Amino acid sequence: MMQATTPSKGHPKGLYVLFTTEMWERFNFYGMRALLVLFLANSLRMGETDSNLIYGGFLGLCYLTPMLGGYVADKFLGNRMCIQLGGLTMALGQLLLFTSASIFGENLQLATTIMWVALGTIILGNGFFKPNISSMVGQLYPKAQKTKLDSAFTIFYMGINIGALLGQYICPWLGDKEPGGVRDLTAFRWGFLAAGVAMMLGVIVFLFLKNKYVITPEGQPIGGKPDPNVVHEGEAAQAKFSTNSIVIAIAALVGLTCFFHFIADQNMVYAIIYASGLTLAGLILSDQSLTKVETQRILVLYIVAFFVIFFWAAFEQAGSSLTFIADNQTDTRIFGWPMPPSMVQIFNGLFVIIFAFPFSWLWLRLSQKGIEPISPVKQAMGLALIALGYLIIAFAVKDLGTSGKMGVVWLVILYLLHTWGELCLSPIGLSLVAKLAPTRFASLLMGVWFLGNAAGYALTGTLGALLPPTGDKYEKAAEKSIDLAGVLNKTVQPTADQLKFLSENKIPIDFPVFAGFQITTLFEFFMVFVILCGAAAVVLYALTPFLKKMMHGVR
Ligand code: GLN
Repeated sequence: MMQATTPSKGHPKGLYVLFTTEMWERFNFYGMRALLVLFLANSLRMGETDSNLIYGGFLGLCYLTPMLGGYVADKFLGNRMCIQLGGLTMALGQLLLFTSASIFGENLQLATTIMWVALGTIILGNGFFKPNISSMVGQLYPKAQKTKLDSAFTIFYMGINIGALLGQYICPWLGDKEPGGVRDLTAFRWGFLAAGVAMMLGVIVFLFLKNKYVITPEGQPIGGKPDPNVVHEGEAAQAKFSTNSIVIAIAALVGLTCFFHFIADQNMVYAIIYASGLTLAGLILSDQSLTKVETQRILVLYIVAFFVIFFWAAFEQAGSSLTFIADNQTDTRIFGWPMPPSMVQIFNGLFVIIFAFPFSWLWLRLSQKGIEPISPVKQAMGLALIALGYLIIAFAVKDLGTSGKMGVVWLVILYLLHTWGELCLSPIGLSLVAKLAPTRFASLLMGVWFLGNAAGYALTGTLGALLPPTGDKYEKAAEKSIDLAGVLNKTVQPTADQLKFLSENKIPIDFPVFAGFQITTLFEFFMVFVILCGAAAVVLYALTPFLKKMMHGVR
């Protein structure tokens, strides 16, 4: 007979099985991600701009497909099957990347085609894996123990980041080689292969340990096929969408995609992400079996997911504008050692690993004392912390001008505050989905939650483009005796020759504009995030009394 796995103290063993599985999967995802743009730009000769665009679209789509994976799990296959399928699919995607990276020298066109298929395969696999593993964490805990969820997800989140950190070290170590200062274009494949092996390890861990540990206290398997005969207390067993609402949803999807693409001027991938989020949100609410309490709880989830978009849009600058700033206007020496600029963001993963347990402990202590803030308050704290991070760095760069360099310590402080914010917001958000979602929608609503992230990624691109020219652009222009400040401020008229030089070197001649304001300095750029996230924090906090009512007892 199987033993119960949900002790009244501590966490069930199943949590650590899910932790390890997710750790290997994130190793695979982030390890590949670290190499992807370099591989595209250098080996497949796609250029930096196109590689960045592909990267943004790829990430956005990775967080779009979870709604599909969530739907299939809730309606047909169950979480377990979807996790295994998703894991195998991602491993296959890595093998395809390995193939592409092995043959590009002989047949560039075939290698490029295989790369597209590989990315599509990974996007699909991630969609099946990600929402299902996250929603299973919630299902490990019986109703009476739902108070442990914030702490459980914080531990799970640590698994995510240990995997990410390992992947971001090992895959570049194997795949990004520059012997004698010249990049070895054929080495990338070993990084992709390592990512594929890591994913297989995750699948194997899950395959062999799930029956023993990922079970209810009564020993029943969690995440099996949805069974219409098993009814959870006060809930219907399965999602029921009428044909009518499905037809309306499809029409809305097409209509909204056209709106975002043609009227709001978003690129097609971004338009599809925004439109799918809204459509799916509406479709779930049209389900006839929802009770009033369930509907209100789902609405809370939507409201919080909306605010979280601003968090990710600010947070994910790490991979774009903040990396450029680290590269161009930062002295990255740490105790004399010049840290590669692309490595500065590693502080995020490192801080998650250091602080995940203390945060998890903090929530438990506060809840024992009965003073733990409710979830939306934690989300508002997350937004406030990210705003604070940007505020500090804004003042650190205020007097830098266009030629000064800031100390890397300011970026480290920024990542520290951003990580604290992330720990208040991201695992807590996953846990909130687990607490608020009716069981029959658990994975689908996890998909909606990730769609909020996808929208955040899309907004990241738009906001990152507001970065004003950094010091290196001024220097480059000065080499040709061009007064870039004068050109940007329209006090100097560049000659045709100078214009050609500026455009060839991708140096802009206009400052970026946001909501009618010109962004002329890094200070102003950072203040955009302070204002956006600060305002989002204040509004979300002001809404919390209403949200609390609509949550009906869930915290
Ligand atoms: N870094 C976390 C993960 O990979 C969160 C990413 C996100 O939710 N956007 O799961």
